[in-house]
Amino acid sequence: MLPASNLLLLSCRSPFLDDAKVYPPLANFYLKSYVERYLPDTRVIVGDDDYDVEHLAWVRDYDAVGISIMTPQRHEALRLAAAIKAASPRTTVIAGGPHVKHYWQDLAREPVFDFLVPLDGEKALVAILAGQASSRTLSSVLTREEIATQPRPDRTSDNAIQILRRYRYLLCGRPATTLMTARGCPERCTFCEEALTAVRWSSLDSIGHQLDDIRAAGWRAVYIFDDLFAISLPKIQPICQQLSKRELWYRCNAQARYFTKWGEDMAQLLANTGCVEVAFGAESGSQRILDNVQKRCTVEQNYQTVRYAKKYGIQVKAFILLGLPGENAGTLAETEAFIRDSGIDDFQCAVYMPFRGTAIRQALDHGTAIDLQLRPAGSDGEITGAYGIKGGQTAYEVRTCALSAEDLRQHRDHLVSRYRPRSHRSSWQNEDCFFDEAISPYADV
Ligand code: SF4
Repeated sequence: MLPASNLLLLSCRSPFLDDAKVYPPLANFYLKSYVERYLPDTRVIVGDDDYDVEHLAWVRDYDAVGISIMTPQRHEALRLAAAIKAASPRTTVIAGGPHVKHYWQDLAREPVFDFLVPLDGEKALVAILAGQASSRTLSSVLTREEIATQPRPDRTSDNAIQILRRYRYLLCGRPATTLMTARGCPERCTFCEEALTAVRWSSLDSIGHQLDDIRAAGWRAVYIFDDLFAISLPKIQPICQQLSKRELWYRCNAQARYFTKWGEDMAQLLANTGCVEVAFGAESGSQRILDNVQKRCTVEQNYQTVRYAKKYGIQVKAFILLGLPGENAGTLAETEAFIRDSGIDDFQCAVYMPFRGTAIRQALDHGTAIDLQLRPAGSDGEITGAYGIKGGQTAYEVRTCALSAEDLRQHRDHLVSRYRPRSHRSSWQNEDCFFDEAISPYADV
C-alpha cells in the first residue's frame, strides 16, 4: 500500500557462502539514511538474512519490503518474495541490487516483484515510497554531487548497531567493519560487471563523520570496500590521514598499474596511515591473459605491487581467476609461478564465471569468436556458482579450447592444496580431516 509509512530492507540469505556474516549490508544503511532524510515520516528498518520464510506473518507490519539480490541469490530471492506476498499480499515488494541491474528482464517476468530498481536505489526508493513511481522499473543514478552530499550510512541507531554487530570481521586481530569512500571503477576488465562505471566519491566530511561513527561503535579497523581505493595518491591522501588520525587500521583494494604508478609512494602512504593489507586482482601470471581481458597492467606490475607493499610491511592478498579466455597449460604454469614466487601472503582462487553484465558474457551471448565456452549448470540456463562458496569451493562452468572444465578444476585444486592460502583454509583443512580420518584406523594398530 503506497505511499508507505514504513519500510523493511532485507538481504537475501546466501547458504552457499563460506561465511555470510562477515561483511554487513552497508548499501541498505545508505538507503535507510537517504529515505529518512527525504521522507522523514517514513520508518525504515534494516533487517538481515535471519528470516524464516515459513514464518513471515510479521512482514504485515510493513508497507514495503526492499530485497537486495546478487545473482547467486536469485532463487532464494524469488522464494523470499513469494513468501512475503503470501504472508502479506498488501506489502509492496521491491527488488534491487546487482542482480536486478543485469537480469532485470528475467525479474520482470516475476509478478511477486512490484518494483525493480536496477541502478542506485536511493531516488527510486523515495519515489516508490512516496507513491510517485511512474513505472515498474525505476532506473535512476545519483550524480557525483549527489553522492558527495548524500547522508552518511546509519551506523548509530539501535537498529544499525544491532544488525552491524552480527557481522564478525577481524582485520589482523582487530574487530572491523566496512566503509565505502567511492562507488564505481574506471577500469575496463572484460570479465567484471563493475567495469567502466562512473567513479563518484563521498565527501571528506562524510568520510570523517563515518569514521567517528565507526570508532564510537567500537570497531578498530575497516575494510575500504571501494572497487579501487589505492587509485590516486592526491585523492586518497586526505582520507588516509582521517583514518590515521583515528588510529583505525585498514584494508583496501588496489590495481597494479595505479599502485605502481607512484613508485613506492603509494605503499608508503598506505603503510604510514594504518593500512595492514592490500587486496588486488592479479588475475593471472600470463601477460597474454591479462591483455585478453583488458586488465591494462603488466605481469611485472603485479610482481612490483607485491614488492612495494611488502617492503612497507603491508600484507598482500591476490585474487586469481583461472579459465579466462585463452587459458592453456602454459598460462596456468605462469599463474602458478606468480603464486609461488611473488611473495603474496594469501590468494583467493576461482574459476571464472561469466555473469551477465560483463563484456565477455556479452561476447558469448552474441556468438563473437572468443576462446571460452560457457556451460551453465543452472536449471534456469544460468551459472550456478558464486565467488567464495562454502568449503573454499568454486564452480566449473567454462572451458577453453585447450582446457576442459575438469582440467581447470584439477589445477585449481592443485593450487589450493599445494599453496594453502588463508582464504581457502576451509578447503585444505577439510583435506587434512580427510587424511586424518583415513589414517587413524592404522594408527590404532
Ligand atoms: S576487476 Fe577490479 S579493476 Fe577491473 S573493472 Fe572490475 S573492479 Fe575495476
